Amino acid sequence: MSNSAPQNTPSLEPAPPGDAPQTLTPDVVVIGGGSGGLTTAAVMASFGVPVVLIEKHKMGGDCLNVGCVPSKAILAAAKHAHAIMEGPKFGVHAKGQKGAKSKGTPFDVDFSTVHDHIKDVIGTIAPVDSVERYEGLGVKVLGGEARFTGPQTVQVGNTTVKARRVVIATGSRPAVPPIPGLETVPYITNEVIFDRKELPEHLIIVGAGPIGLELAQAHNRLGAKVTVLEGFKVLGREDREAAELVKSTLESEGVTIHEHALATNVANADEGVEVTIAVGEGDDKETQTIKGSHIMVAAGRAVNVEGLDLEKAGIDYDRRGIKVDAGMRTSNRKVFAIGDVAGGLQFTHVAGYHGALIARSILFRLPIKQNATILPKTTYTDPEVASVGATEEELKNTPDIRILRWAFHENDRAIAERTTEGFIKVFTTKRGKILGAVIVGPKAGEIISLWGLAIAKGMKVSDITSWVAAYPTLSEVGRRAAVEYYKGATDNPTLRKVITFLQRFG
Ligand code: FAD
Repeated sequence: MSNSAPQNTPSLEPAPPGDAPQTLTPDVVVIGGGSGGLTTAAVMASFGVPVVLIEKHKMGGDCLNVGCVPSKAILAAAKHAHAIMEGPKFGVHAKGQKGAKSKGTPFDVDFSTVHDHIKDVIGTIAPVDSVERYEGLGVKVLGGEARFTGPQTVQVGNTTVKARRVVIATGSRPAVPPIPGLETVPYITNEVIFDRKELPEHLIIVGAGPIGLELAQAHNRLGAKVTVLEGFKVLGREDREAAELVKSTLESEGVTIHEHALATNVANADEGVEVTIAVGEGDDKETQTIKGSHIMVAAGRAVNVEGLDLEKAGIDYDRRGIKVDAGMRTSNRKVFAIGDVAGGLQFTHVAGYHGALIARSILFRLPIKQNATILPKTTYTDPEVASVGATEEELKNTPDIRILRWAFHENDRAIAERTTEGFIKVFTTKRGKILGAVIVGPKAGEIISLWGLAIAKGMKVSDITSWVAAYPTLSEVGRRAAVEYYKGATDNPTLRKVITFLQRFG
């Protein structure tokens, strides 16, 4: 572990209230120093355009400080624990581990080291998002909470910023469901869970979306008992078959998952919390009580629009986010909204994509249009679920759709590594145009990239079959699925006649 990296991202200090009022007139002002805001600011500055960035808390936003980075860091720690459990299958035993048959966890987890590992990872990446780096690029960074005072005017502390264009990239925060009693217990969200130095004994997680499931698997693998409560189905926005595989894997590892389970009450109980749930579909519900040591809320995200005084700039918004057109412009044409606050897919790479897209519009006045079909999404459970483009559900009423499929248990690399659960499904038109793909299995988030490119470039299945994948790689599942498109061609009588005819010519 590196000792040189800072242990955490520092919060930005707002300017002291006594500072003399000043007015800045950059070309662009960006509100929010997360993935979206930082991308826009960096591109502007690299072209020498004067830009002011306002951040009220920490540079790097949610992804770096309380989102993608710490969640992947804790999953990495959990993978090491899981590898110890799986080791006997490979003839590898941890010290004192009595073969593959030992019950419980044959290892100890020092959770404060897990905490330090998470903070070290954040600290190692933080300089890339730091004030120093951005000031070095030519961005003027201001600490404090920004709000609109006019259509193109933003106030932060005693500083007034008037700009030709304004970019809102204020992100989102955990949505807290109105469960009676929740406010009476010290519930956890992603904003505090990575600060914990002790493994919870029994963590109850409300919500089985990507955040809830990633943290459920991580904590379970590190030795905590975990119960997940979901009002509908796990990974409700994903391919059902893929989601079911993730669910059964987590359950086989020891996570308890209740679907169609509505939390109706939360109360303090001896040394923990007690959650009452109504389980079942329709009117047929059964009441159960679950006791745990801690409760975490991972039940969706609320957009950060409060306190921005959007009305003063004529910007429309609702509960789901700031309303934008396909070019990310708000109802005020001089103002853009990007990333989580714009109410679409909530991912870091989507915020970055928006940031780069609007930079083209602001710098070169080029028409821009978001292309949502090229945006991949990944849930980093083990197995991972990754998808891009149209889903099977979206295509179910489209005629002549082909579904090409290949399973990881027929992939030699997966067999060698004993990670054979999962599959790829590719959706194409009858003529072989690639419309979408979903992968559940090892490294799905890496393998999906090829399919994102295929969709972005309008490729056909034949483009994939003429591509050579190294052997043995997990990516071969995609090529094998593509070859399935031609299944049946070998039995085609016309083709056979052509081959026989050509044989006559020696
Ligand atoms: P943010 O990163 O939230 O940045 C917004 C910034 O604006 C914040 O720093 C905030 O302090 C600041 N701000 C807000 N209001 C004001 C104001 N009035 N004045 C000044 N500043 C303000 N995405 C992935 O792609 N991959 C993942 O693996 C992944 N994992 C995740 C795991 C978790 C636990 C969570 C919670 C999220 C995860 N995400 C992941 C989603 C990802 O974090 C977000 O989509 C991404 O951070 C959005 O970027 P953004 O720029 O829109 O907003």
